[in-house]
Amino acid sequence: MTKYAVFGNPIKHSKSPQLHNGLFKKYNINSIYEKVLVQDAKEIRDYIIKNNLKGANITLPFKEDIYYLCDELSDDAKDIQAVNTILYKNNKLIGYNTDGDGFMESIDSYKGIKTALMIGAGGASKSVALALKKNNIKVMVANRSHAKLEFYKNKSFETSLLSDIEIKQYDLIINTTSVGLETDDLPIKKEILEKLFLQSLYIVDIIYGKETSFLKLAKAMNKTNQDGAMMLVMQGVYASMIFADINISFEDRKEIMKDSMNANISN
Ligand code: NDP
Repeated sequence: MTKYAVFGNPIKHSKSPQLHNGLFKKYNINSIYEKVLVQDAKEIRDYIIKNNLKGANITLPFKEDIYYLCDELSDDAKDIQAVNTILYKNNKLIGYNTDGDGFMESIDSYKGIKTALMIGAGGASKSVALALKKNNIKVMVANRSHAKLEFYKNKSFETSLLSDIEIKQYDLIINTTSVGLETDDLPIKKEILEKLFLQSLYIVDIIYGKETSFLKLAKAMNKTNQDGAMMLVMQGVYASMIFADINISFEDRKEIMKDSMNANISN
């Protein structure tokens, strides 16, 4: 039986084993998936090798540290400089990043997006921004402070400080900050957000497991909106395709997404 695991800290809350073990069962794959609490990224590498795992998922706060400990990297992982999926093959750790694919699949029903405003510039934002760009969507990245905007400037994104944000029309507005996770705050002033939302078509907050004030406002303004639950499930589905080297059809992926939402797998 092949073994897989998700590594993070904290990890107790993770529903990744539920998702992946469910997929193994559905596709008759003789494998088991567990969760492992670790203190640093080096421990992840050692654990995978010692226990001969076939693959792993990496979650907070190790996605960037493990990037430097992989022997080979996919193009997406190289671009994002972070790894959320590992395949252990021929004694090598191969790093992938499926967050961007997961995000794009989560907004698959949102048609006609040409422009996006991404609020936030942290680790998760990179995969979202690069996936949108790959899909020919023009992205403005707005962040509270300068430092994290450098990555985006170097990749030719338009950038702005949140305090200088220009009010104009964006088809899609995404919150990728952590604001709203622990509090009921908004990442920018409500009056500004209302003006931006008014002109937009779709609103996404990648935070999951909680209805943030950001999404409450979108709902109150009757905007099509979603949280990060579908992104979370779909990055896992893309990871499982890498693990088992299988292709899960678009129709099956939609079915899995629906089942996962019904089972509250991302909460
Ligand atoms: P990071 O710590 O890398 O980045 C945090 C971002 O939030 C930075 O841009 C930071 O700005 C901004 N920020 C923090 N506090 C404030 C504030 N008070 N006002 C304005 N901006 C603020 O976090 P991650 O990118 O790893 O995660 C961000 C969120 O995305 C988390 O809530 C996480 O749950 C969610 N997530 C969802 C996933 C999914 O699959 N749905 C996957 C991964 C993450 P600054 O640079 O100025 O500090």
